[in-house]
Amino acid sequence: MKNLWSDHQARSFVLRYAKAGVNRDRALRVYTSRLLGGEPRLVLHGGGNTSVKTTMPDIMGEKTEVLCVKGSGWDMGDIEPQGLPAVRLQPLRQMVALNKLSDEDMVNAQRINLLDSTSPNPSVETLLHAFLPHKFIDHTHSNAVLSLTDQKGGDALCKRVFGKRMGYVPYIMPGFDLSKKALEVYEADPSVEGLILFKHGIFTFGDTAKEAYGRMIEMVSLAERRLKKARKKVFAAAKLPKKIAGVADIAPILRGLTRHGGKRLIFDFRGGKNILNYVGGKDIRRYACQGTVTPDHVIRTKHKPLILPAPVAGDIDAFKKSSERALAKYVNDYHAYFRRNNARQKIKRTELDPMPRMIMVPGVGVFGLGANAKAAAIAADLAETNIEVITKAERINPYQVISEADIFDLEYWSLEQAKLGKGVEKPLARHVSVVTGGGSGIGAATARALAAEGSEVAVLDRDLKAAQAVAAEFGGLGLSCDVTDGRAVRRAFDAVAKTFGGVDIVVSNAGAAWQGAIGTVSDKILRDSFELNFFAHQSVAQNAVRIMTAQNTGGCLLFNTSKQSVNPGKDFGPYGLPKAATVALMRQYALDYGHLGIKSNAVNADRIRSGLLTDDMVKARSKARGLSRAEYLGGNLLGKEVTAEDVAKAFVDLARSTKTTASIVTVDGGNIAAALR
Ligand code: ZN
Repeated sequence: MKNLWSDHQARSFVLRYAKAGVNRDRALRVYTSRLLGGEPRLVLHGGGNTSVKTTMPDIMGEKTEVLCVKGSGWDMGDIEPQGLPAVRLQPLRQMVALNKLSDEDMVNAQRINLLDSTSPNPSVETLLHAFLPHKFIDHTHSNAVLSLTDQKGGDALCKRVFGKRMGYVPYIMPGFDLSKKALEVYEADPSVEGLILFKHGIFTFGDTAKEAYGRMIEMVSLAERRLKKARKKVFAAAKLPKKIAGVADIAPILRGLTRHGGKRLIFDFRGGKNILNYVGGKDIRRYACQGTVTPDHVIRTKHKPLILPAPVAGDIDAFKKSSERALAKYVNDYHAYFRRNNARQKIKRTELDPMPRMIMVPGVGVFGLGANAKAAAIAADLAETNIEVITKAERINPYQVISEADIFDLEYWSLEQAKLGKGVEKPLARHVSVVTGGGSGIGAATARALAAEGSEVAVLDRDLKAAQAVAAEFGGLGLSCDVTDGRAVRRAFDAVAKTFGGVDIVVSNAGAAWQGAIGTVSDKILRDSFELNFFAHQSVAQNAVRIMTAQNTGGCLLFNTSKQSVNPGKDFGPYGLPKAATVALMRQYALDYGHLGIKSNAVNADRIRSGLLTDDMVKARSKARGLSRAEYLGGNLLGKEVTAEDVAKAFVDLARSTKTTASIVTVDGGNIAAALR
């Protein structure tokens, strides 16, 4: 691993933070924490932590010895000084004299000694940092180190690789006991440059930020060199069917099956050669089901993945049935694991939901699962890390980690669960929405409104850049899609299923207005309009229903049908006719798919200031009616201008309503000629 320290960069951190009143020690602590946090083979998603012992003035201006240690909720990759809360060092050090300390007392003691009461909770490994005397301390869950320690004979192997340069700490759950043990190991030989925590990770220390960081990179490089010497061959392959079904075909089925208590999960798929090698191994049940490579992954991935049979292309039903059986067994096993381990707890725990967070499918790859796209991506990242670490361990000896009881203790440890936070979910959380024509106007406003309600959103637009720009506002997916091209629509929906696992809400919004007197208009104009304003809606709805049916969790179809569908405008036949047909289409879907819980509704908008109604169109239409622009835009019963955001709200309202189908909502400020009844 490359040492990325740069004197120039270090200096620029010191200078930059000095302006904000941050001292040199803390500035350099930020610098090397970011170096470590920017390397996923060392630190992933809140794993790992760092500290520095320095002095800061208290409220009276008195120089106070403090430990600045990584705070809960911060990622090292983009940490700031406030992500390293300052805790008075003396009171922490005194706690070494205690024989026992409960987690609650430990957290309380750390909090009451904060210099700033609004700081996040200091890391669960704070006392370990406090008890050791070194100025700078770095801790990571390095993949290479984990590959060495997480195997049969891993302790001895580590000792051979690092020798006397490192101290060795047996596995103990983080907290007070581990902190005391780490100190004891250090004191037995104060010449060590760091500590290997068996089955957990690595600490290095130094008098300077550069020294502690340099030692981390050096030790990790030693581990990497040893792994390189291992044999290349690993995992005898299982026999797989000749033709394997695609990700987009199986993801919605799995998403439907993994619902728990009515709640769905978002999926994140990962494939590639190394993953296929791993999930296609004959012995996958042995090496993949022993537990996570470092204990704190368990809160995001659970201790075991769900392993499914390979899906045969063209026989999705068989895959569905066998997946159902495998999942039922997984859930039963989880209940049993909980009961077995909860029985020995003094304070009884409440069982977490039993659904897997990693699904491994031979011939296909691995899915990460989570309550939102971010959590799913974290689970998928951790799954990839587990696959890498276990693969490299298995090249030397069989993979081996801590006991099930130790994993349980971590999974159900209140301080670990606290890392996940417990916010109230938004109404459309755990949902996946697709908006066509989402790159501008009503579509963009609707995509934003759905995202604001908690939904994952895929923005489809003919203009890829526009789609991506809107999606980037809320971390969604932007795809290019000409909705009049049936194959492109299928590809786009498959991409959404591959990205999020499925589809729940579809806003078929893309459209455009064609004009022409109906008696003389060319066939071409009429047919072009039907392509976009009717057939495209049909192909979008067909693809939506294909995925929703596979999920078997209901769904919501929404069409933008415009007031033209019920109140034709003069010389707007080419626009109004297909829109009227689309209203009939909406009703047909409501009728044919209601029994599957799929709702189908439409929004009739009129005279929207932005989006479909361009300035030129406003000019032409207001002129045709002898109205000024303001009169035209506000010319409705309420006398209020209607905006794209108003239409977006109607789509969101329909998406949230559970008992409405085959309905049309008007958003036009009141237009009696276009009133439905
Ligand atoms: Zn750790």
